Amino acid sequence: MAEGELRRLTEWVRSNGYSRVLLQCPPGLRDAASAVSSALRGMGVEVISSGSSCWGGCDVALREALTAGCEAIVHVGHAKFIDVKDLPVFYYEARYDNYGPLAELLPKLREHLAGKSRISLGMTVQWLDFLERFAEDLERTGIEVLLGEPGGHLVHRGQVLGCDYATMLPLDSVVDAHLVVGSVFHGLGLALVARKEVYAADPHTQHVTPLSEAAKRTLMRRYAQIERFKSAKRVGVIVSLKPGQRYLGLARWLREKLGARGYDAEVVIVDEVRPEELEERYEALVNTACPRLSIEDQERFRVPLLLPGEALVAIGELSWEELLRRGLASTYPQSWIMR
Ligand code: SF4
Repeated sequence: MAEGELRRLTEWVRSNGYSRVLLQCPPGLRDAASAVSSALRGMGVEVISSGSSCWGGCDVALREALTAGCEAIVHVGHAKFIDVKDLPVFYYEARYDNYGPLAELLPKLREHLAGKSRISLGMTVQWLDFLERFAEDLERTGIEVLLGEPGGHLVHRGQVLGCDYATMLPLDSVVDAHLVVGSVFHGLGLALVARKEVYAADPHTQHVTPLSEAAKRTLMRRYAQIERFKSAKRVGVIVSLKPGQRYLGLARWLREKLGARGYDAEVVIVDEVRPEELEERYEALVNTACPRLSIEDQERFRVPLLLPGEALVAIGELSWEELLRRGLASTYPQSWIMR
């Protein structure tokens, strides 16, 4: 991990005089969290660890921090996603400082991208210190590489999230393919909304995966869930407590739309979207929380777990084709649904 980031964090804590902070971290970055914790404790700062899930920058542990009387939050592993007003948050992005795994990917990428003359490149935040260098190395193989500017929930050039591709999607019409460095999870999100082939390159596993077939299969499964939804009566419209996933206005609006079409719909607010608490109570669910729950976790649910746009397709307010055009798993459904 890059040492400069740790120095910036300790300086931030010192200069603000914080004496108690909440530390939260996703699985897989526990070493980074340990380094942060040791450094802060070494300065005499009390560190309280969040034991809750930490899915993304959307998932800031405000309630834990306020309950524990913390003065600030150190959120490990993600970039800033939203403005958090209640407490100061330091986003410790835990950037990698070893270019080796990226260099190793180059020969394999050369094979996969043979025949493409121009691609867009995006990366998960941990790899972003190498964005330009990796783009230059790819360009040496004769491919023009475009890097998109920040937008939406993305604060860095070339950054991607599982729910936001504002750096890459606008380039869809001018490239031959997209390359997402991170994981299949990150690549698939783009493949569901892009028209061009998307390749996911995982520096940890050294796998390069083309994703258009997987995206087609996913879309077919989503359509089947929309069909199932139509025969439900009692519907729960999920609202998340997580600060960056909280769309209460959208959920209430959807409840009214569903009610007008004869569904018995209610808004249900949860911290974690889990089948145990929900599928006994509802015959179908609409998910206004993280859009990837409907894509990755549908199989854990016996009932349909539709995205807001999919629910509109189910009740005949939107065509499937129009939904695909607008972006199935967009995290900002309210921006186009609630116009
Ligand atoms: S909403 Fe989901 S995909 Fe987006 S940042 Fe949060 S956890 Fe990741």
